[in-house]
Amino acid sequence: MSIESINPATGEIIETFTPYTTEQVNAALDEAQQAFRQWRSTTFAERGALMTRVATYLRANKAELARVATLEMGKVIAEAEAEVEKCAWNCEFYAEHAEAFLADEPVATNAASSYIAYRPLGVVLAVMPWNFPYWQVIRFAAPALMAGNAAVLKHASNVSRCALEIERVFKECGAPAGLFRTILVPGSAVADIIADPRIAAVTLTGSEPAGVSVASASGHALKKTVLELGGSDAFIVLDDADLDAAAQMAARSRFQNCGQSCIAAKRFIVVESVADAFTEKFVAAAKALRVGDPLDHDVQIGAMARADLRDELDRQVRASVQMGAQVALGGAPIEGKGAFYAPTVLTGITTDMPVFREETFGPVAPVIRARDTQHAIELANDSTFGLGGNLWTRNIDRARQLAGQIESGNVFINGMTASDPRLPFGGVKHSGYGRELSQFGIREFVNIQTVWIGPAAGSATAEPQAAAE
Ligand code: NAP
Repeated sequence: MSIESINPATGEIIETFTPYTTEQVNAALDEAQQAFRQWRSTTFAERGALMTRVATYLRANKAELARVATLEMGKVIAEAEAEVEKCAWNCEFYAEHAEAFLADEPVATNAASSYIAYRPLGVVLAVMPWNFPYWQVIRFAAPALMAGNAAVLKHASNVSRCALEIERVFKECGAPAGLFRTILVPGSAVADIIADPRIAAVTLTGSEPAGVSVASASGHALKKTVLELGGSDAFIVLDDADLDAAAQMAARSRFQNCGQSCIAAKRFIVVESVADAFTEKFVAAAKALRVGDPLDHDVQIGAMARADLRDELDRQVRASVQMGAQVALGGAPIEGKGAFYAPTVLTGITTDMPVFREETFGPVAPVIRARDTQHAIELANDSTFGLGGNLWTRNIDRARQLAGQIESGNVFINGMTASDPRLPFGGVKHSGYGRELSQFGIREFVNIQTVWIGPAAGSATAEPQAAAE
């Protein structure tokens, strides 16, 4: 079966790809392994020079690369350009900081000298989603390559051209052959690739079911994994919040990327006394968003990435409405061609409704009323996910305390959750495990090696301590 790229704004097939044969996948893994054997011995300066060239290339070719993403998955062009820019930033960030993040760390012991060293692991398989087709890949690849690893990318099947573009960019910027390889294969081919001895470790950004499959296959093969899975982030508004700022940021957070972001605010939990005022402002902000052709620079909401994803979102909305949710805005697909969905705000939400229980991956915002602050925190934690969270209050001391009660990998107070190369990124609970970005991200795909040099102090031999293990 062929792999198709379909423009979700028009429904037209843009390009058709033939999945790679077993021989092609084998050749890619061989090449990556050979590249790793050379690359692991390069200096940080050499690796950083490649990453800097990639950053420069991305900036210089931002418009063309952004257009490819918009055509394949429907995001608005201004956001696609910003995504390419962010990739460049990440490449530069790791070019500058990787050496310090991975420098040997002396540790005082009974040895004449002992230290921790960070060695690359080998070829890392990256299974990636379509929602930020460049950023998700570069977020992983910049630190992994700077640490001395090689990478094989299996991208989401609806963004195959983006996947090939990333491979081309690395090649054109002078990466050794095979250091970054793309393979076009379906998700069903992933387990066998994980089992291949040429793959040292695996990273997945994607849905919970894909996480279960990848973690199982990796567990079976005893390979290290990082999982960045779904989220259903709470956006908590307390009674002393700046409601105007909160409503504006709520609309930005929920509706960016047409609502298809793992760290988008997905459950708006508002304390009773300010719920009506917040909802009114939030609906007004959502109503003001321009929906339309994602190639138009003035449009803020494009098409959803695939028609089947739009239909699934609509199912969640309709089931919730049947259970008593009220439509304050939108509430249905937009008629005509393309996978468009009207920006939607729902009220009267109860915790058994799909829009509360499940991840909504599109432009739908449920507003939930909380009796008080403590109830708001309980509602926030009443989720299988634990990726991010937002808290709006003018009382920062109270916010710091409440942050400790929120079960998530990040809490943004009076701001919008966003990834940043300088800060660790990842989740708890069913949102996955492991971290990307910052010094934590670059240390995921390394062998943390202890080096001990004798003789031991106060001993005639060079043996470490007598007791084994
Ligand atoms: P998805 O369906 O899980 O796909 C993600 C990747 O996994 C694709 O490359 C897909 O390949 C592959 N895949 C699917 N099923 C698989 C399986 N059983 N075994 C191995 N690989 C498999 O997710 P998506 O629809 O692209 O992305 C949306 C999800 O990703 C949401 O849940 C979102 O929250 C999550 N996400 C998380 C983060 C984060 O950082 N935590 C960031 C972005 C998105 P095919 O396309 O060929 O099926």
